Amino acid sequence: MQICCPGGNQIHHTPELPRGSIVSYYTLYILCIYPVILNFSIFNLSFKYLHMCNFCCNFALQLSNSMKTNEYNGAEQIRQMCAQAQHMVVVTHMSPDGDALGSALGVKHSVQADCTVIVPNGFPDFLAWMPGAQDILIYDQHTSQADAAIQAADMIVCTDFHELKRIGALGLQIQDKLNTCPTLPLAVIDHHIVCDEAMSEVRAARPYAEVIDSASPSASEIVYRIFRLGMSDSRLRDAATCIYAGMMTDTGNFSFNSNRPEMYEIIGQLVAAGVDKDEVYNRVFNMWSADRMRLVGYCLNRKMQLFPEYHLALIYLSRKELYRYNFHAGDAEGIVNMPLQIKDVYYSCFMREDKVLPHELERAAGEKIKVKISLRSQGDRPVNILAHDIFFGGGHKNAAGGEFYGPVAKAVEQFLRAYPQYLQKD
Ligand code: 5GP
Ligand code: MN
Repeated sequence: MQICCPGGNQIHHTPELPRGSIVSYYTLYILCIYPVILNFSIFNLSFKYLHMCNFCCNFALQLSNSMKTNEYNGAEQIRQMCAQAQHMVVVTHMSPDGDALGSALGVKHSVQADCTVIVPNGFPDFLAWMPGAQDILIYDQHTSQADAAIQAADMIVCTDFHELKRIGALGLQIQDKLNTCPTLPLAVIDHHIVCDEAMSEVRAARPYAEVIDSASPSASEIVYRIFRLGMSDSRLRDAATCIYAGMMTDTGNFSFNSNRPEMYEIIGQLVAAGVDKDEVYNRVFNMWSADRMRLVGYCLNRKMQLFPEYHLALIYLSRKELYRYNFHAGDAEGIVNMPLQIKDVYYSCFMREDKVLPHELERAAGEKIKVKISLRSQGDRPVNILAHDIFFGGGHKNAAGGEFYGPVAKAVEQFLRAYPQYLQKD
């Protein structure tokens, strides 16, 4: 099924596993495993024969893996565009998270072209270990270097977003480059549903390819499905590690959006390519500063409000409170998910004050403070509609966000007025 939004934006749903994989598992059993069991008990089989069967099993498994996942529409086009490029720029969204960096770096390590990853602003320390992260250009710090890379680019790829306003001032530069080079190829790899007029304009009448799969738990998984680590060789492990980190972080270490069996088949391939998954977990989740731990304690102990009738929890922080805990990028990551661990809490909202950036001055209309809003829910309780209608944002059914210009107390007031129309009572 395809959903089209006004910009002609196609949402490609994830291909299902073909029956071939089931057939090949039966073949595997009949050809390899069954004879082993039979022969072992009857003839007390030699190790040599066992070894041969093991080889057959691996071969049959590889065969079934290669049959398993259908191609995305657009994947071949993206691969071809990348193969022809020499100086690619890969861009991902503001306040990059694990999936943003995982998908962007995953592309970088999967292509032959020289590839510069540019992000609009800084990313947390717990993602800085990712292979290739040290070479990322952070637009608000390395502006002239990033502008030069954009000018020299012969292809642009957007991962984990395709709404130009989600990359701030970097969006203006990208838009400018695309407008002045109508033959410059553009590719989008994303799992968000959005309709962005500016993006629709720039992609019209140019070489353009996309894989936008709203059913995919992460953009990184889509990157795997497009490139299959196939173009890398020496960078196989780096590509696999970045992709795995993105898949892990966007599913809360495979605790939500994580019921599709093929995800685990992909993880198997990534581990086989050299990913140390325990190490990735440690580097992402066990690298907290003491300040961050204390900030979380403060949020849960002193700031969490519960609204039992709507199964809702709300936490909000002012800049003064953040300053008290020596706040760094990423320190608030995951706080919004925590109240969902409480029995009977199905909705969670977390808000924190932030700076208004120079490119946002017009939208801020004189306000000096911006509030970043995060919403989460469980089950069939959408929060992206509230994010869209009340906070000019969007996102997925169970994880969405938006922004508000003004102090957090005002954003809270607006949320408290609106939530009864958007959240279910039971
Ligand atoms: P987070 O709460 O982790 O910042 O964001 C969760 C999800 O909400 C993101 O993956 C993204 O889809 C969406 N989201 C967050 N902030 C915004 C925003 O300002 N605009 C839009 N359109 N989506 C957002
Ligand atoms: Mn993502």
